[in-house]
Amino acid sequence: MYNNVRGIVIDPGHGGVDSGAVGNGIIEKDYTLKISKYMYDRFKDLGIPVIMTRTEDITLTPDERVNKVKSAFGNYQDVLVISNHINAGGGDGAEVIYALRNNDTLSNNILNELNKAGQNIRKAYQRKSMVNPNNDYYFMQRNTGDTESITIEYGFLDSTKDDVSQLKNNWQKYAEAAVQGILNYINSSDDLYVVKPGDTLYNIAIKYNTTVNDIKRLNNLVSNELAIGQRLKLPVTQVAGEYYIVKPGDTLYSIAMNNMMTILDLKRLNNLTSNDLYVGQKLLLKPSNNNTNSNKGNTYIVQVGDTLYSIAKKYGISVDELKLANNITNNLLSIGQRLIIPTPKNIYIVRPGDTLYQIASLNNTTVQSLKELNNLTNDVLTIGQELII
Ligand SMILES: [Zn+2]
Repeated sequence: MYNNVRGIVIDPGHGGVDSGAVGNGIIEKDYTLKISKYMYDRFKDLGIPVIMTRTEDITLTPDERVNKVKSAFGNYQDVLVISNHINAGGGDGAEVIYALRNNDTLSNNILNELNKAGQNIRKAYQRKSMVNPNNDYYFMQRNTGDTESITIEYGFLDSTKDDVSQLKNNWQKYAEAAVQGILNYINSSDDLYVVKPGDTLYNIAIKYNTTVNDIKRLNNLVSNELAIGQRLKLPVTQVAGEYYIVKPGDTLYSIAMNNMMTILDLKRLNNLTSNDLYVGQKLLLKPSNNNTNSNKGNTYIVQVGDTLYSIAKKYGISVDELKLANNITNNLLSIGQRLIIPTPKNIYIVRPGDTLYQIASLNNTTVQSLKELNNLTNDVLTIGQELII
């Protein structure tokens, strides 16, 4: 779940020679376009970056469609891809398909709103390819990179129940329901950055490994002025380090060769699941010096329910070490975020009679640095306490 989005791609299913399902006076490609245009206008009015894969009745091959998705806002987890469809097959009600890499939060937000708008709900589900169960069945989920990509089926045009009249009469309500579901999702987190005295956009950008422009775009800021207490959305935390921007003609192989690394390393560092690249893509080549020590350590992908504390505990490190290794300056985590897990330092368990001074001299360190390392505000120790040495 992200408290912001980089952009939303609205994809009207089918088009041109591919009419999609047809029946009972409904042509799928026309309804998907109407619904998509409605959604596009709503997001545009709200100032949320939005792009459509087609705005007219044209044919798009799966590759063309996917390329439009990838070139819209880039291959990022905080890009939402909404593919609109009308179902056929005789059922009744709405369903949402979400990618294997995502969870069902966005889908269920939308289904809830569709339900409020009068449509009955079937389910939110993932569909695996039968050839390779690690892949999504539908190309709009399978080939859309790291984006959060869902397909909404608003109802069945061959339903024997109430879908046909609902689609004809309520399509606009349903499009609005999808917009509301997406807005709920985008705004669902209150993990916003609160501007403090002395903050500037530039300082905040540096601190969070982003750019002034990205923060401004995300928050619809027209000037660089900030007010104390103002709440800002921040882009998903990126690992600090050396990046390469993909140019025309680049391949994973050529980039790996030029940077004396393996394709596997490149893919692992950037969480790539395929060999596809797109021009303008930002690839991490080397995490910054702050992280060099921890390169030997593992990486961990943040899961639902994780906290910095639970992750640190799991790996026998301190929250501070974890934050330092990842340049995290607050306690914000996003699901799917990649964390570098530094190699654990020595831990000393306090025994009866121990003093900070003794422990420090035994370990060739000073009381002061022990206190700093362990965030101690006084000299009191408790038996069994864990100290990072
Ligand atoms: Zn369809």
